[in-house]
Amino acid sequence: MKKKIVISQNKAKLASSILVTVIVTIILLSLTAICVKQSFLQTNSLYIEDCNNIVSNYTQLFNERLDNYLNILNSFYIDEQYENKSINEIHETVIGLKAYKIKTAPDFQTVFYLTPDGTAYTQENEIFDVSQREYFKDFFSHNTDTYFSTPIESFQNKNPCIVLLKGIKDEKGSTKSALGCTIELSQLVKFFAKIKIGDSSVIVLDKYGRFIVNEDPYWFLKTFDPSIYGVEGKSTKDITNIQEYSFLSFDTKGNPVRLFYRKMDKTDWYLGLVVPAEKEIEIINNITRNTIKISIIALLIFIFLLTGEYLLFKDFQKKKLIASSYDPLTNLWTRQFFEQEASKLIRHNQNSKFMLIECDIRSFKFINQNYGENSANKTLILYAENIQKITDKYHCLLGRGFADRFYVFIKVRSVHHAMNVFKQELEELNKNIKNSDIPFFPKFGISFLIPKDTQSASTIQELIGQASFAKSTIKDNMIVQYSIYNSRLNRKITQEQYIENHMQQALENGEFFVMYQPKISLENEKLVGAEALVRWKNPKFGLLAPDTFIPLFEKNGFIITLDFYVYEQVFKYIQSLISQGIPTVPISVNMSRNHSKPEKFMHQFIELFRKYDIPQELVQIEILERSFMGSETLQEITEALHKEGFSVAMDDFGSGESSLNMLTKIPVDVLKFDRAFLRSSTNENGEIDNKSAGFIQILIELSKQLNKETVFEGVETKQQMEFLKKIQCDQAQGYYYSRPLTSDDFIQFIKLH
Ligand code: C2E
Ligand code: CA
Ligand code: CA
Repeated sequence: MKKKIVISQNKAKLASSILVTVIVTIILLSLTAICVKQSFLQTNSLYIEDCNNIVSNYTQLFNERLDNYLNILNSFYIDEQYENKSINEIHETVIGLKAYKIKTAPDFQTVFYLTPDGTAYTQENEIFDVSQREYFKDFFSHNTDTYFSTPIESFQNKNPCIVLLKGIKDEKGSTKSALGCTIELSQLVKFFAKIKIGDSSVIVLDKYGRFIVNEDPYWFLKTFDPSIYGVEGKSTKDITNIQEYSFLSFDTKGNPVRLFYRKMDKTDWYLGLVVPAEKEIEIINNITRNTIKISIIALLIFIFLLTGEYLLFKDFQKKKLIASSYDPLTNLWTRQFFEQEASKLIRHNQNSKFMLIECDIRSFKFINQNYGENSANKTLILYAENIQKITDKYHCLLGRGFADRFYVFIKVRSVHHAMNVFKQELEELNKNIKNSDIPFFPKFGISFLIPKDTQSASTIQELIGQASFAKSTIKDNMIVQYSIYNSRLNRKITQEQYIENHMQQALENGEFFVMYQPKISLENEKLVGAEALVRWKNPKFGLLAPDTFIPLFEKNGFIITLDFYVYEQVFKYIQSLISQGIPTVPISVNMSRNHSKPEKFMHQFIELFRKYDIPQELVQIEILERSFMGSETLQEITEALHKEGFSVAMDDFGSGESSLNMLTKIPVDVLKFDRAFLRSSTNENGEIDNKSAGFIQILIELSKQLNKETVFEGVETKQQMEFLKKIQCDQAQGYYYSRPLTSDDFIQFIKLH
């Protein structure tokens, strides 16, 4: 299956905005580059046009000059002097032109008359045979009116010259002879040599591609091929074969040039403008340079935009992050963000040990209810600040969870070292918060991540779960401030899970059973009652005391079912004692703190009770002072039980916060003093502390005045028993007399007492 690629929304946003920036920048860059290039090309084409114009102009100028020569030559010819004249007469006329020539045509070297047999009669009274000359052949074979030869060597001074011919025609129009003149090339060169535009120069090539005009006289009448410089370019000969009017090549010095050229229509020559190509290269370079400049600017704009965008994005993200990652009250990380960061830390430090501390405040709910939300918040802030002061020192991660819960996470060297530091800092913390307006007591659950320990948690969520569990075991103990999660606790969790999963089945299997602890009259040491206490004979964990499962059943509500089960067992037991004729004593049963509806409880209780034929006096109900039921409900239940003929005892009397208050409100018959009374007033030698003794005595007297029977729980020693006897407490229940007994053992106990 193809894996789906998931991109976070933020990343997608960033990517798309970068894409837009890139596209915009590219468009911007391209447009500018095109404009720049266009303007350069325009300049360039203007420049080429200029060059072409120059060439045209010079071609024209040169043509005019040739025309001028031709006109002069024409003016030398007067019909009468040549028509029907002997050759000698004609020669005389030619010679006679000399003076005239000097005046009007200083460039003419000589003027001559040419007959079709190839004889030239010169001004200088010379006769040459030119029948082998190319121009002669050319002229007579083409039958033209005028003719310009390619450069030839002068017969007279061996200098290169050109020959200009004007045809003389017979009546039929065919050329019968010609009047000609030679012009020294140096004269023409002089004309072109004057032309110089900046670095450009003019060349003239003949139809063979030989130089007629060139800056360097060496090349005169020579052709040139750039290959002599080892470079590739068109030779002057090539020019006579190609049609282009401009191309890049090399000049006779081997420099790169652009040549603009034209064929001159009156001759077979070519006129060319040689422009150093550097200009052109410079233009190209300019374009490149400017393109680079633009690219850099574009890049800078791009980077600028991108940075701006990134910063904006970060800022935006940060704001969003702040909104979602920080707790508004304490400014600490939220639990979610804390977990995220802690997970990262674990991922990046796979071989490290970590410590997690869950901190909270003892009875924070109480602070909230009694001092109001504002003060509670202030307390939280103060607590957070004090924790942060410490965590900052050790670079811990710190976050706030629900209500008063805070989480600290830190990489540690060892458990031992971490705990030492923790204890030391805890002392400091306690000192610092001692003087807060509202007194509060922090408590902590601690768990460790040990990489190679298979029992250890491996995720932050597991660590929090463990620490939280460890903390929950502290309960009401004021001396213990922290608890570390360990495998014992782990066992406890497993056990709890097991209990929850098996309680229903255990009930059906009859694993729960009742034991009876005798109550003894202190006056005569006789058995006067018993308390029914439940036990669980568990196949996996053995015999379980109620402490291990009752708190759990109170949480999950199963205690209500269990209570009625116990009641039924007790009723059955009493009935069987009666039917066996065994003397009976009243047996008290415990009513859990979970029963909340008096009518419902009463209805169920009475219904169950009526199933058995036993007198009400044999059953006593122990209600808890610290019950979930309010004092009014307790009062209602007590009254309802009284009405049905049952007696009611207040269990664990003195352990709650408003015991004396309850004493007057709820009409119980018996006060069962919490065993904490005896425990805390007995010293190491087993003697009763005077101060406590006085207090207990007052309580007993008060109870007597209120007409309540008094029972003391947890009587373990003779001293305790004697003390209670002395102050005239009615009954004692405790190990001193007997531990809780099985139903059979209790029967034996009855028989003995
Ligand atoms: P409790 O109602 O205060 O019961 C008296 C507890 O004190 C019993 O603990 C008993 O074994 C213990 N005890 C008696 N004499 C002494 C003594 O001399 N020294 C010491 N240290 N302890 C003594 P047990 O049986 O473990 O029961 C614990 C608690 O579980 C009970 O406290 C009661 O609150 C609850 N419980 C027991 N059976 C039931 C039940 O059937 N239903 C309900 N709802 N709660 C029950
Ligand atoms: Ca009890
Ligand atoms: Ca009790």
